[in-house]
Amino acid sequence: MNRYWTLADRPLPPWPEPDTFELREGPIPTPAEGQALTRTIYVSLDPYQWGYKRRGVEPAGGPCHARTVSQVVESRMEGLAPGDFVFNTNGWAEYGLMGEGVARPAYMIPRKLDPAQGRISQAVGVLGMLGLTAYAGMILMAEPKAGETVVVSAASGGVGQIAGQLARLRGCRVVGIAGREDKCRFVVDELGFDACVSHLSSTLPQDLAAACPAGVDVYFENVGGAVFDAVLPLFNAGARMTICGLIAHYGDAAGMDARAELMRRGEAIFRERGVKVGDLFVGDYVAAHQDAFLRDMAGWVASGEVRYREDIREGLETVPAAFAEMLRGGNFGKMLVRIAADPTG
Ligand code: NDP
Repeated sequence: MNRYWTLADRPLPPWPEPDTFELREGPIPTPAEGQALTRTIYVSLDPYQWGYKRRGVEPAGGPCHARTVSQVVESRMEGLAPGDFVFNTNGWAEYGLMGEGVARPAYMIPRKLDPAQGRISQAVGVLGMLGLTAYAGMILMAEPKAGETVVVSAASGGVGQIAGQLARLRGCRVVGIAGREDKCRFVVDELGFDACVSHLSSTLPQDLAAACPAGVDVYFENVGGAVFDAVLPLFNAGARMTICGLIAHYGDAAGMDARAELMRRGEAIFRERGVKVGDLFVGDYVAAHQDAFLRDMAGWVASGEVRYREDIREGLETVPAAFAEMLRGGNFGKMLVRIAADPTG
């Protein structure tokens, strides 16, 4: 049988609760010509998945959507054999199909993984969409220059840790914003940021100003809310802000437009100081940049120039709790759940 988590049939709360999801069983699907049956090893837990649920993107009754790292069990697809590892979108499920006719977001293109290129779990992180998100939002959009001050929020998370390190490789002064003290220490001591301040402190605006004595030239926005308010007065003339995500608002009431509200709060300063605001959607960068990016990033990770922390939980049963925890900062590094043994170790 195939066990999977689905949304329970009840109104969605602002943030996930213990009874928001239901564990179900169904038959293991059979691959048609052009498809492969895969067994999930790693389920990626990402903030956007909550948005999918709140916007009703997922069909009712099926497995909750997620990007996954899986192993091929049976293949009727050219170029894939049993035992191969793949990036695909099995969701919160033990088994899933990939290939012709299998529904998935257009830009989440399944691909065979080369375990020699990096740990297979990283295909849903630094060596995949999250790495590309950081690269596109930081390097391609914000174009940081040596000596500039770059601020990254959710700095110890899946995207933030990479975005900050990419700016550091460009010779910038990089300041992180994170929650817990141990996360802030990690960002400086392990990732090599120049400073990191906690948004849990009541003196965040002053702490951030002190950490950015020359103002802020680039802000990589993952959060919104009070964190954005602390960065706003520090923008220099000609600064760039990439809006990657606004996680503080993912539980806002339906109809609230967090981005519009943020633009309203920033309007005067953006205008006076010529701050350029860019909206990031990683899907726009996959076709043109993913292959070259993955080659570069695999090299940086292998050489240790980019370090990457994962927070790996164990077992399908833990998925909903791990997901809820990640949304409120309980993850320390990129959150994923191992639901079957990883034969690559
Ligand atoms: P993370 O690994 O960063 O996990 C989320 C983190 O957000 C938490 O650990 C917590 O860190 C922080 N956080 C949560 N709530 C708050 C809050 N109220 N105030 C401050 N910090 C908060 O997740 P990802 O790296 O996967 O995602 C980061 C952002 O990137 C998200 O907004 C996501 O939606 C976005 N994203 C956007 C993409 C795009 O195409 N534009 C693609 C992929 C991701 P802490 O404990 O430090 O507060």
